[in-house]
Amino acid sequence: MSAVIIKDSSYRLLPFRFMRMQGDCPQDVLIISDAGEHLSITNAQLHDLLDKRLQRGTALYKDLLARHFIYEPGKHDPLPEMAAQFRSRKDFLLQGPALHLFVVTLRCNHTCQYCQVSRAPLAGDGHDLTAQDAMDAVDRLFESTSPTLTVEFQGGEPLLAFDRIRQIVERVVERNETEQRDIQFVITSTLHHLTDEVLDFAHKHRIQFSTSLDGPAELHNANRPTPTRDSYERTLEGIRRVRIKLGHGAVSALTTLTARSLEQPRAIIDEYVRQGFSSISLRPLSPYGFASKSAQRLDYPMERYVLFYQEALAYLLELNQQGIHLSESYTALLLNNILTPFSSGYVDLRSPMGAGTGALVYNYDGYVYPSDEARMLVEMGEDGLRLGSVRQPLRELLNAPVMHLLLEAGIAEALPGCSDCALVPYCGADPVEHFARQGDPIGHRAFSSFCEKNMGLLQHLLRLLRDGDDGVQRVLLSWLTRRSVADISHVGYRG
Ligand code: SF4
Repeated sequence: MSAVIIKDSSYRLLPFRFMRMQGDCPQDVLIISDAGEHLSITNAQLHDLLDKRLQRGTALYKDLLARHFIYEPGKHDPLPEMAAQFRSRKDFLLQGPALHLFVVTLRCNHTCQYCQVSRAPLAGDGHDLTAQDAMDAVDRLFESTSPTLTVEFQGGEPLLAFDRIRQIVERVVERNETEQRDIQFVITSTLHHLTDEVLDFAHKHRIQFSTSLDGPAELHNANRPTPTRDSYERTLEGIRRVRIKLGHGAVSALTTLTARSLEQPRAIIDEYVRQGFSSISLRPLSPYGFASKSAQRLDYPMERYVLFYQEALAYLLELNQQGIHLSESYTALLLNNILTPFSSGYVDLRSPMGAGTGALVYNYDGYVYPSDEARMLVEMGEDGLRLGSVRQPLRELLNAPVMHLLLEAGIAEALPGCSDCALVPYCGADPVEHFARQGDPIGHRAFSSFCEKNMGLLQHLLRLLRDGDDGVQRVLLSWLTRRSVADISHVGYRG
């Protein structure tokens, strides 16, 4: 990294990016260093900074110096500190895949319209992971060098294949006696098929649950139909049983937002408060799993989601200031990227990308994919993102041609659009999403809903951090320290 010298002066500029934030605040220029430090300044201050007119000893000068936007030659060498910051932000690169998703079955009792192609009928044949494939997948899991591993069971409805879950957990626990990794198990489930046997087993192995709760009964049941039309009631009953057996924090919930959901942010949040959750995940729909007919009915422009998010976040901040603790999990991840020197580690917000390098999916058919979204594309007839079979060593899977193709499109700092974007230290690269939506893993940021979402949310949060009163700032900072199962598990779950 070399400093950019504009003209002779007592200070020199270090590399940074800037962005003009729209709004009434005079400090509408956001400057962000490569290591992720940020500062809001006025347009005049930006010019003074660039033209070397800043006065030494002023508060702004000291701030710029401390945050490595400028340095004083001969007085201190900023590079070791900047290198350490950059290394911390990218330390996930040294760890190997930590998130391992086992799709134990594609069968499900729900007929959710937003996942039509990612489920199979209850009695469907050939949609379950075989015992041999499961054992091979466990071998792949332990070939990862990551000291911490999250083993997540997905479907379909994974509890319909509980025997396979039991086999995998027991095998992992047995192997871990010698491996000594830090392992967390998560089952992402509707909780409709909980039994005492499942709960006893979960208790024994400290398994956590992640479920889907889309909002109040009417909305949840409309989004998530079952033949008995009681998905909401059965999910609540499952949540109650998990909490009694495993403790209140052993289950977290996620929403999937349809066009109908966007009309009722307060009702969705109120439902989470009523059910005693401390975290909510407000996820927009993804381009996977739709039948094209439902896409027109359920999908919406990302612009609408960003407006929904702003309204929902304002309500959440209001509630938190009244003493009701409910955080939004994607916001907590973004805040982590903005306010701490560390990456959140969340796979969709990594650069280089998290698909494959941070997460692997062992599909029911014995094939391995770099992400949940990549395996869902297979059900839509697109198997181009397959890494290989569970029988191949991990080294071979991670060296598959698909990984090379994705990695070429998976470094945000080198992508057209992102390379010039001030927000890139807080954002990520998601080549699988761009492949799904635009047919090209690089994609075009002007038409990218991934970009529209992250740009909209990051700018909104940065404005709140700049303009919000003490109460708002306190709430946002408090979300940094509260992490739920939804944060550690794969938020892409939609079963
Ligand atoms: S995806 Fe968009 S917001 Fe994110 S770094 Fe790229 S251009 Fe910036």
